[in-house]
Amino acid sequence: MPENPTSQLKQIEAQLRLMTKVFMDGADPIVIRDLDGRVLDMNSEVERVFGWKREEMIGKWTRHLLAPECQEAAEAIHERRLKGETVRNFEAIVRAKSGRLVPVLATMFLLTDEDGQPVGMADILKDVTPLKQACNRIQQQNRDLKEFARALSHDLATPLGAIRGFADILLDDNGEQLDEDGREHCRSIVDAAERMNQMIKDLLELTRLEGDPGKFVPVEMSAILNDALANLHAVIQENEAVIASDPLPSLHGHASLLGRLFQNLIGNAIKFRRHETPQIHVSAIRSDDLWHFTVEDNGIGIDPEHLEKIFAPLTRLHGESTFPGTGIGLAACRSIVELHGGRIWVESGKGQGSVFHFTIPDRPPESHLFQKEQ
Ligand code: ADP
Repeated sequence: MPENPTSQLKQIEAQLRLMTKVFMDGADPIVIRDLDGRVLDMNSEVERVFGWKREEMIGKWTRHLLAPECQEAAEAIHERRLKGETVRNFEAIVRAKSGRLVPVLATMFLLTDEDGQPVGMADILKDVTPLKQACNRIQQQNRDLKEFARALSHDLATPLGAIRGFADILLDDNGEQLDEDGREHCRSIVDAAERMNQMIKDLLELTRLEGDPGKFVPVEMSAILNDALANLHAVIQENEAVIASDPLPSLHGHASLLGRLFQNLIGNAIKFRRHETPQIHVSAIRSDDLWHFTVEDNGIGIDPEHLEKIFAPLTRLHGESTFPGTGIGLAACRSIVELHGGRIWVESGKGQGSVFHFTIPDRPPESHLFQKEQ
């Protein structure tokens, strides 16, 4: 039997009541605005989180409640929203009635009528104060760790210099009183001290690796690769390495850090070679909103059980006499890729060559509230 119009109307009314309840009691503050940005309505969470009452907000502009450092980004996002784009996870800071600054992740979108004409705008503002506090704690711990590593490196350098210096003196002044074994031991001390010195220098460099995503610029990856190859010129010649590259894109990034990334990966591809001529291929393919790069070699390969751990600082799979190095290069590569919001990994097998993959998103995340040092 067909439903009568009155019961249909009642059903729609009941649904509407439910939807209104979800809006009013929703878990996050929601603000509805007209196309000029004036508040048309808001739910009760706005008052609970920010302390602003509904009656004092209706009909008002609220731009002044955004922290000054978010204003410019908010303006750009407003334009994107007017074009129909839903902007998610915009990091902003909103001033509460008490004066407290509340960090939020905002989802902002346009509201349209049944003909698709814009009629208003909605902001859903997730209060991320606990998340921000946790991030601040982690950032502080990171800074403390870096500071500790720096202090330790400086403190280690002095006794290390003394060990090396005395071993040199022993060799120079008393070398003739020592037998060949004794002289060899002294040389080993000098070599070990030299190696430890290099490790300390590389570790220090790793702690200094920083790149503010706010300062990223458009970069031509083919030019970056050429610079890296120029820096590796001597090693390439010495090993007669053959390096080929597909066309590479331009993207948003930190030029010198990306150069270092190529240099470390290609340097390794040459260093961990087999007897045959090192053949290295660099390529990039598009995948959704990021570029996926690969650096492929025909070198000694890596045992699958070590594929993850080689990205940790100071991890090496070979003795110094087989392949020199300090085990910092890939840790630096990982830091550089992660600073760009991407990921790095390797596919390989023993004796099969290796393919290093890394991704670089088109643009760094919307803003970097959680990465800024406080
Ligand atoms: P280092 O080159 O100073 O040893 P890295 O951090 O650059 O340090 O590399 C860590 C380890 O990963 C290397 O010691 C090596 O065992 C392995 N590795 C890195 N790149 C390659 C490669 N292209 N082929 C084979 N093994 C590699």
